Amino acid sequence: MKVFVVNCGSSSIKYQLFDMNDESVVGKGIAEKIGLPMGIVSLKIEGTGEKVERELPLPNHEAALNTVLELLTDKNIIRDKSEIGVIGHRLVHAGECYHSSVAITEDVIEKMTECNDLAPLHNPHNITGVRTAQKLFPKAFQGGCFDTAFHQTMPDYAYLYPIDYSWYEKYKVRRYGFHGTSHGYVAQLAADHLKKPLDKLRVITAHLGNGSSIAAIQNGKSVDTSMGLTPLEGLMMGTRCGDIDPALVFFAARKGVSLDDFDKMLNKKSGLMGVGGISNDMRDNWKAIHEGNKRAGLAIKMFTYRLKKYIGAYAAAMGGVDAIVFTGGIGENDWEARQMACEGLEYMGVEFDVPLNKTVRATLKEVSKPSSKVKVIVVPTNEELVIARESYRLYNESKKK
Ligand code: ADP
Repeated sequence: MKVFVVNCGSSSIKYQLFDMNDESVVGKGIAEKIGLPMGIVSLKIEGTGEKVERELPLPNHEAALNTVLELLTDKNIIRDKSEIGVIGHRLVHAGECYHSSVAITEDVIEKMTECNDLAPLHNPHNITGVRTAQKLFPKAFQGGCFDTAFHQTMPDYAYLYPIDYSWYEKYKVRRYGFHGTSHGYVAQLAADHLKKPLDKLRVITAHLGNGSSIAAIQNGKSVDTSMGLTPLEGLMMGTRCGDIDPALVFFAARKGVSLDDFDKMLNKKSGLMGVGGISNDMRDNWKAIHEGNKRAGLAIKMFTYRLKKYIGAYAAAMGGVDAIVFTGGIGENDWEARQMACEGLEYMGVEFDVPLNKTVRATLKEVSKPSSKVKVIVVPTNEELVIARESYRLYNESKKK
């Protein structure tokens, strides 16, 4: 059985095709620049490592997915699309509706549509992805994992904002949290590594990519996380600001800054990009530092300092911590960022192994000393695999009914 995992954005579709016999990825890639005069569809064939790219106009998501299917058949990865029995969608926002992955029905799509206001940059495109897949694969099972679902276990005192309560009642304004699929997955792998049940552990998971978030996971349940109503809150990110004084909104308004420009500033021109002024990419910032750029240095200092503050806060929230997990492009690869974030955490029982940490990249490995009370573990994330597994599980369950 082949499971096709899709992550649909406004102008791109990332995809991975899994063979569930051994959970291997047989092909993956991205269709980009949908809706622009010229689009690109790429495919990397796992196993051989061959890469193929096709340039052609992609007027809409259907054209993009059709081109992906053509590439997959031309390269003999599938005979035809009927081989794909399950589609797994990466979905962003389900409000308070779903606590776990779902079989996508009209009711689910309706609930997602109701959440469009909460995730205007993501939800409408996710729905387009679902509709397109339903059209192209009318017989396939459609499953999906919501980024928000894992965090639905947060207690009310963690997810509510200290504002007029009626905003929660009327508009469902609250913390939802994102990257849930990743936080749940890496926490479980960390527990497996420690040979302890996750429901007996207190784990802090730091997912550090272009978007970054951190979660407190107590006895297997998310009890707090840094992203909020939207993915703008919390840690400093590549281009997003994370936590700031909300009064900046009034300040900007009084300076005559338009709502759109202010939105752009906080979402696209802040974070590493905004402070360092070089790039949203961590690697570019390190390169700039080595070339003597002081602002890039300040940006990374702020990034890791704010991360450390959250680690301390979540340890306090859980009455201690057994393991701190680093994941995402930065968490998995950037030894310097990990070292900076863990510097000075000896007081809470972290004995960081500085030389060992320098050697660890993109692999599951403990980077604390064996004597460390709190284990620090690098765990590569794999959200697509979780989506493939969950959608396949739901498909099998649906067959039994
Ligand atoms: P996304 O959130 O888009 O999925 P990723 O998880 O791939 O992003 O993370 C992207 C970030 O990871 C970028 O800031 C990139 O610079 C950083 N990164 C990737 N590889 C390395 C590396 N070897 N060293 C430092 N940073 C890295």
